[in-house]
Amino acid sequence: MRMWMVDTSILCKNHLMGEYREHFAIAGLMRLERRFDGYIRNNLVEPKSIESRFEDIRDEMLCRGYEPKKEFVPPDISYLPEEHQNYKVDVQSSQDDLLSRCTFCRDNYDAGLVRNTDTYKKG
Ligand SMILES: [Zn+2]
Repeated sequence: MRMWMVDTSILCKNHLMGEYREHFAIAGLMRLERRFDGYIRNNLVEPKSIESRFEDIRDEMLCRGYEPKKEFVPPDISYLPEEHQNYKVDVQSSQDDLLSRCTFCRDNYDAGLVRNTDTYKKG
């Protein structure tokens, strides 16, 4: 499970759909009040951004003509330790990881599809 947090326009179809689905899985674990220590330690989730990130992913899917239909109910994250609630994914590190493992995302990146470079750096 991972919130890549990179510009959604560079995500290939698999990674875009994957991140969409994983938001439901992450939210499910949050509803069970699971701890996210490992995910935080490994730079994989950004709890406070789950709703806005989901909307970005959904917008990107709509933009590409896909039809995301499942209703997303944002989870209550108040049970998490404060430093986990406020954790910010290191986007550069996440992007480096993504581009090193997916040639399709890499191609999008190289093609300069990045539309809103600063979206996820604002905090
Ligand atoms: Zn990809």
